Amino acid sequence: MNTMRVAQVSAAGGKFEIVERELPQPGPGHVRITVEAAGICHSDAGFVHAGFPGVQFPLVTGHEVAGRIDSLGEGVTGWQVGDRVEVGWFGGHCGHCLPCREGDFIDCQNLQVPGWAYPGGFADAMVAPDTALSRIPDGLPAALAAPLGCAGVTTFNALRHSSARPGDLVAVLGVGGLGHLGVQYANQFGFDTVAIARGRDKEPLARELGARHYIDSSAANVAEALQALGGARVVLATAANSDAMSATVDGLRHRGQLIVLGVTPEPLQISPLQLIGGSRSVHGHPSGTAQDIQDTMTFSAQTGVKPMVETVPLEEVDDAFQRMLSGAARFRMVLTTGN
Ligand SMILES: [Zn+2]
Ligand SMILES: [Zn+2]
Repeated sequence: MNTMRVAQVSAAGGKFEIVERELPQPGPGHVRITVEAAGICHSDAGFVHAGFPGVQFPLVTGHEVAGRIDSLGEGVTGWQVGDRVEVGWFGGHCGHCLPCREGDFIDCQNLQVPGWAYPGGFADAMVAPDTALSRIPDGLPAALAAPLGCAGVTTFNALRHSSARPGDLVAVLGVGGLGHLGVQYANQFGFDTVAIARGRDKEPLARELGARHYIDSSAANVAEALQALGGARVVLATAANSDAMSATVDGLRHRGQLIVLGVTPEPLQISPLQLIGGSRSVHGHPSGTAQDIQDTMTFSAQTGVKPMVETVPLEEVDDAFQRMLSGAARFRMVLTTGN
């Protein structure tokens, strides 16, 4: 086979369509991956609508990609044809910018995100630099590995680098694509876990995933409810809603952290007074490097943390994308290629 299917968007805001392309060859330091599964992330909507600078059309997005290596470029070491690998949001780094020189590869000024820097994983195959590869542990199916490359690593890494320690009260704002994983990781890390969502619909599931407490943000004052539990050491804000994030700040204990993950351009409404009293802080958190993704997958396989996914064939990408946008997905739409 010298051709492959890709799901491409021809122009900004357009629909996904399946087209045939020539199978790409991996250059030096790159591998070609036969894609088995690819998760649909909310950020994909940002690419489709050209919300990120320099997005090229026709666009092949997809940065939660699980598959196996089928071809090695020149100079690739440590990887073999047949290895099961994941490529997530972290799709390669430049190695020479200041963050890279300081070892902060995820903050690389020239960070390569699949679908943005090069064609992503809504396809039968993709080519990626070997620095972007994470090994998928045995026993973790591709459809469950895929979402860990962005949604999973983002929540896992944010929590493990936070100031929270076992026993601390940790709240997860939003029980969606990121939040349903955040609740599971918080529970597995030994935190006294609170889930915050609108309405009571998600309460049974949140408790099943490991939340010991549940706050319905449409019925309660979230900050007061958190203070009644002793105040949160960390609020992991996965919901892309600045007002909902801002409403948690007074629920932080002293030295508490609001960790911002949900992507939205709307400003947070927080006064300096709220931060100064109690030495509170607000942190942004990007996802994580290829090794962080590997750690996320390994931990998830060991502890039984699983993304809840709806799988659909690659051909139905446009319907799946619309379902993700509508908020109806429970919780991650994952495209499967049958490869
Ligand atoms: Zn993503
Ligand atoms: Zn760099």
